[in-house]
Amino acid sequence: MAYLLILGGTTEATHLAAAVSQGELRSVFSYAGRTGSRTIQPLPTRVGGFGGVEGLVKYLREERVTHVIDATHPFADKMSRNAVSACTQANVPLLALERKPWEPKAGDCWTLVPTMAHAVEALPDAASRVFLAIGKKTIATFAAKPQHHYLLRLVDPPELDLPLQNVSTVIARGPFDVAGDSALLRDNAITHLVAKNAGGAGAEAKLTAARHLRIPVILVDRPTLPSREIRDSVSGAMDWLASHGAILERGV
Ligand code: NAP
Repeated sequence: MAYLLILGGTTEATHLAAAVSQGELRSVFSYAGRTGSRTIQPLPTRVGGFGGVEGLVKYLREERVTHVIDATHPFADKMSRNAVSACTQANVPLLALERKPWEPKAGDCWTLVPTMAHAVEALPDAASRVFLAIGKKTIATFAAKPQHHYLLRLVDPPELDLPLQNVSTVIARGPFDVAGDSALLRDNAITHLVAKNAGGAGAEAKLTAARHLRIPVILVDRPTLPSREIRDSVSGAMDWLASHGAILERGV
């Protein structure tokens, strides 16, 4: 009997869980457990890491998982690499459900950089006011330029002291809209925006707001991952499940 593991933590994963829950496919939804509040899923849910590749292989075998869909964030590269290795070892078909990256539009002033360290380098030397829309995992990198004021937007209030001196925080969970993000940039006199090229609609508003306000954006490219099958929509993922025998052919 087919048994699907969804690696979640994104809007796409939540939409996939909603679609899967409409049918008969036995499934489990997995959260890393990083944030205090989680969207409740219409599927049985587990929380916490598996224990690296070895732990995930063990989980797949013990739970008799037959299909995995990695719907984690494009920057959750450790989990995605682990999924590729573990699924290969356990011989379980793997699909990545991944949004398309954002593309620049007329009026954008983007500097594209490969890593967060390059984003720090791309900031000016003169004191500036920088919105770091990058979560909290990599903010310590910006301690290399302490002359700037940094505005952070985080999902949960930070539990530990932040590794930046000159910093203010906004606690908020997306999706965000252009009016709200424009006000945030204006009210905080932001001169530069640093963001990850996450793609998708929920976090795009800040880029639109920056375009309207002519604020330069430093956009960090996605990490490179091993080759894997990818679909960029829930519908594509459902087709993949059908073509891999987990559900009936759609439309049949
Ligand atoms: P990561 O660096 O790729 O993963 C670190 C470890 O967290 C993994 O090795 C795994 O632990 C565990 N993990 C990650 N996702 C998991 C999942 N869905 N289920 C069970 N364990 C998981 O991940 P991250 O960047 O810290 O992101 C953590 C979660 O937040 C992800 O689920 C991601 O979708 C979500 N998220 C991330 C970002 C971002 O910018 N990185 C943004 C929005 C949402 P073990 O090795 O012990 O298995």
